[in-house]
Amino acid sequence: MNTKSASDEEVNAAAEAAAAASYPYGRSAPALRARFLRLIAHGIEAAGSTLIECAARETALAEARLVGELGRTCAQLRMFADIAEANHWIDECIEAGDPARTPQPKSRIRSRFVPLGPVVVFGASNFPLAFSVAGGDTASALAVGCPVIVKAHSAHPETSALVGSVVDLAAAECALPKGVFSLLFDAGYAVGVTLVRHPRIMAGAFTGSRSGGVALWRAAQARAQPIPFFAEMSSVNPIFVFPGAAAVKGLALAAGLHASITGSAGQLCTKPGLVFVVDDAATKVWLDALGPLLSQSAPSTMLTSAIRSACQRLLDERAGIEGVRSLAQAATDRSQVGATLLGVDVDTFVRTPALHDEIFGPTSLIVHCSSANDFLRCARALEGQLTATVWAEPLELKGQDEFLWTLEQRAGRLVFNGFPTGVEVGRATVHGGPFPATTDSRFTSVGTHAFARFIRPVAYQNELS
Ligand code: NAP
Repeated sequence: MNTKSASDEEVNAAAEAAAAASYPYGRSAPALRARFLRLIAHGIEAAGSTLIECAARETALAEARLVGELGRTCAQLRMFADIAEANHWIDECIEAGDPARTPQPKSRIRSRFVPLGPVVVFGASNFPLAFSVAGGDTASALAVGCPVIVKAHSAHPETSALVGSVVDLAAAECALPKGVFSLLFDAGYAVGVTLVRHPRIMAGAFTGSRSGGVALWRAAQARAQPIPFFAEMSSVNPIFVFPGAAAVKGLALAAGLHASITGSAGQLCTKPGLVFVVDDAATKVWLDALGPLLSQSAPSTMLTSAIRSACQRLLDERAGIEGVRSLAQAATDRSQVGATLLGVDVDTFVRTPALHDEIFGPTSLIVHCSSANDFLRCARALEGQLTATVWAEPLELKGQDEFLWTLEQRAGRLVFNGFPTGVEVGRATVHGGPFPATTDSRFTSVGTHAFARFIRPVAYQNELS
C-alpha cells in the first residue's frame, strides 16, 4: 500500500486534475453522482472486517465503536446519494420578467446553486471512517458535484489507503474523470498547506485541533483569491445542572456523564469538558457517585502518542492552577491516560481563561457555583461551542431566558436533560458553532445540510432559451 508523502509534482497534478474534472463532474447527471456514492458505501461494507481490523490497529479505538462508525459512514454516503439524486440542493428560483413594466422593463431572473469546484478535505484522527477519506465532508462535496482531494490523517494511513482504493474503484466503475477524487499522504504539514494555497482549490474542510485549523484557515484567507475554509476545531461542551434536576435525576446524570466523558477515550469533539453545578446536598450525592465510576475506569490508549502527551501535559498544567483540586483519578501508566475529574470554584473559573480550554481526553472539570444565578456569568465567559447542555426540571427554566439566549449565542446545539456525545445525522442536525468551535458558524459539518458549505448561488438574467 503506497502511503508515502506526496511530492510537490504529485500535489500539483492532483489539483490540476481536480480542476479539469470540475466541468464534467459539476455538470454530471444527479443519478451518476448518486450511483458513485452508493458504490462507495457498498465497497466499504464489502471491505468491512478488513477495514475495522486495520482501523482498530491504527487508532486503538474499540471494535464496537468502529463497527458503529462504519455503519454511520455508509449511511452518510447513501444519505448524500439521495440528496444528489433528488437534486433539490440547486434550489432553483425563477422570477418572471415583465417587458411592459414602466419606467424600466423587468428582466426574467433564474437563480440556482452551483458547485464551488475542487475541495480539499483533511481527514480527522478521531473518526478514521466517518470523518476521513469517504466521510461526511467528502460525501457532501461529491454529492453536489465538487471534485475532492483528501489529505489523509497521519494517524491512520493504511485505513485511509484502503478506503481510497474503494473510492477509486467506484469512480472507475462510474467512468468518472481521474481528478474527481485523489488521496494524498504526508509525513508533515507541507502537502496540506500547499493544497490550501493552490489556486485550483476552491474550498477546504477540516476537523482537528484549534492550532491546525487556524493555521490552515489563515493560509486560505492569505491567498490572492481567498477561499472558504470550514474548520471544526475546539469545543468544551459545557453542561449546566440546575438543583431540581440534580435532586431528581442525579444518579442518571452521574452514570451518563461517566459514559460521555470516557467514551472513545474522551476523544470526541462533543465530550463534556465542563460541568457547572450548584453546591448542595443533592449535588454532593451524584458527584459522590460519579467519582468512583471515573476512578475505577480502565486507562485509555489514545489515538496517537502526540495526543496522549498533549492530554497529559494539559492535565498537569490544569492541576497546577491554584484553586483546582482533584475529585477523581483513575490509575494509569506512561503509555495511557487515566480518567480525571477536577473541581474548581466559580470565581476562579471565571477569571482563569486556561480553565476554559478543551482537553482532548477522558477528563472533565466541575465548576462549583453557589446558586444557579452564577450560570449566566459562566455562560457569558465561555467561547464558542459545538454544544451546550442544560439539566433542569421544567419550572426551573422559567425566568432563565437570558441564560438560554446566551447559550444560543455561544453554541450550535442546545441539549436538554441529555448528553452532547452521540451526534444524530439527519435533516435537523447542527454540528457547528461560533469560533473556536468552527471557523464559520453559519454552516453544519454533519447532517444533510453539510453540502451547503460547497455551493454558491448564481443568477441568470434574460437567459436565451
Ligand atoms: P491536528 O493536529 O489538527 O491534525 C489534523 C490534520 O491537520 C492532520 O492532517 C494534520 O497533519 C494537519 N495539520 C495540523 N496542524 C497543521 C498545520 N499547522 N498546518 C498544516 N496542516 C496541519 O489534529 P489531531 O491530530 O486530530 O489531534 C490533535 C488535537 O486536535 C486534539 O488534541 C484535539 O484537541 C483536536 N481535535 C479536535 C477534534 C474536533 O472534532 N473538534 C477532532 C480531533 C482532534 P498530520 O496528519 O501530519 O498530523
